[in-house]
Amino acid sequence: MAVRPIVLYGDPVLREKAAPVGKIDRTIKNLVADMIATLKHANGLGLAAPQVGESFRIFIIDISALDLTESVRVFINPEILETSGEVVMEEGCLSFPGIYQKVQRAERVRVRATSLEGKEFTLSVSGMLARAILHEYDHLEGKLFIDFISPVSRALLSGKLRKLAATAQL
Ligand SMILES: [Zn+2]
Repeated sequence: MAVRPIVLYGDPVLREKAAPVGKIDRTIKNLVADMIATLKHANGLGLAAPQVGESFRIFIIDISALDLTESVRVFINPEILETSGEVVMEEGCLSFPGIYQKVQRAERVRVRATSLEGKEFTLSVSGMLARAILHEYDHLEGKLFIDFISPVSRALLSGKLRKLAATAQL
């Protein structure tokens, strides 16, 4: 398990559509172990593989800081089956340090994915877990949370975003 550097906004890997995972082999298991170490180190709620520079359809979510009954959840090759409702909440992203924005998303989601053990599962959730799933799923499609904010908020953020992108190029 190793903590990997988190890719920042401006890195082109964040805009790629991630590739499906074939066999859950040693490489994939190591990647997930590294993602878990990286997420814990960053004190984040979720992390997608492209955020550590690996364009694979994997994300992990850990909302145990908010809900003690939770532990790290691993989603491989996830598919969003259904969404309903809508809710606006403030969101952040580990690839956008210090930036928080109100984003409207579905309130409930039904998702199907494969676990690290290779078992397919379906999950219907709402609240923070649903929000985290939708945010992380977007990363696999090359979408970022700033894509959903208003043009005014985006204009207000443009200076910060330029600075972040400049850092990512270094
Ligand atoms: Zn994110």
